Amino acid sequence: MARALLLCCLVQAVNPFVLPGAPRAAAVPAQRRPTPHPRHRGTALQMARDLYETLGVARGSDERAVKRAFREAARKWHPDVNDTPEANERYKEISQAYATLSDPEKKRQYDQFGTTGLGGGPGGGGGVEVNLEDIFDSFFGGGGGGGGRQRQRNGPIQGDDLRADLELDFKSACFGGQEKVRISHLEKCETCSGSGVKPGAKVTSCGTCKGGGVVMQVTRTPLGSFQTQTVCPTCRGSGQSVDAYCTTCSGQGVSRKAKQVSVTIPCGVDTGNKLRVAGEGDAGTKGGPSGDLYIFLSVRGMPGFERDGVDVTTRLSVDAYDAILGSSEVIETLDEPSFSVDVPAGTQPGTKLRLKGKGAPALGKAAQRGDHYVVVDVAIPKKLDGEAQKLVEQLRDAARK
Ligand SMILES: [Zn+2]
Ligand SMILES: [Zn+2]
Repeated sequence: MARALLLCCLVQAVNPFVLPGAPRAAAVPAQRRPTPHPRHRGTALQMARDLYETLGVARGSDERAVKRAFREAARKWHPDVNDTPEANERYKEISQAYATLSDPEKKRQYDQFGTTGLGGGPGGGGGVEVNLEDIFDSFFGGGGGGGGRQRQRNGPIQGDDLRADLELDFKSACFGGQEKVRISHLEKCETCSGSGVKPGAKVTSCGTCKGGGVVMQVTRTPLGSFQTQTVCPTCRGSGQSVDAYCTTCSGQGVSRKAKQVSVTIPCGVDTGNKLRVAGEGDAGTKGGPSGDLYIFLSVRGMPGFERDGVDVTTRLSVDAYDAILGSSEVIETLDEPSFSVDVPAGTQPGTKLRLKGKGAPALGKAAQRGDHYVVVDVAIPKKLDGEAQKLVEQLRDAARK
């Protein structure tokens, strides 16, 4: 069973490991750890190990912790998933421990006396009654009763989602636009309309599973025999016997196609954003819907421009005289290659000039724009010729008066 999907009716709960012997009185002195049975002493698989220890939880753990620990242990040691020689013994141990600790009355007794007081040892007595749900939950991820977790073998299966990467240039990311993305995805086969069957071929019910797609199998475990359901090996779950498969798609019902997808990029996108294009993933099978295409965006840099959300920053270098006297400079903004900026007289190095509303639009909101900051660098002349040197000296002296 194991890797097959589901399980699940108990055929017989005869437990081969129930210890014989008449019930014993519960008046056993309290002891933290019952003395191991001589026959098992010193082996790794002591029958009388502390039950909490067996499940790997702290002594006195509550019901939930016990259940969780049991599931984990069952997943590891169940003979159907673990074929090492010790698995059987270990699984027997943990299910016995769980049988005791999951029963409130037995747990109380065990917590108090170190034994359940029944039969020959912890967990012994009238048979191991482990809730089967708990075991199967440990294999199939839990989630309550049947239904949802059972994958419909014959039913529609949704196609996979796909990922494509798209690199945008700086301005396209700011203002959005149309882009094309090349993808390769599975499409429904046109020859067979997705059925996988050669047009005109005969389709009959599978003889092995009588059309059900599954066969029952009996598995023996320490807890008894279980009837489990596995995919029919003959039809691999389709329930059909097909005379001839579609040659175009080799019976898959889908075929791979390269395609160009046009996408509308909203304004204000940035690296890390993704766009979902519904239905452009892989086609589903057996009438299932297609998956979606997710386009992961990255944005190329633009020399001189830095963007932080809706704001952009550029740098402007002015010489010392212009910084002192003020000037009018031409810079590039997102919208205009030549935009005139006034640098006021007395501008200090590192001053940030703010051009309101000249930044990038907010995501999807073209009219809602951030600001463009211009950081002013002041260039100090490294060398002055004779006349300029004299003038600057005069200027200095005048300024200091
Ligand atoms: Zn086909
Ligand atoms: Zn079959």
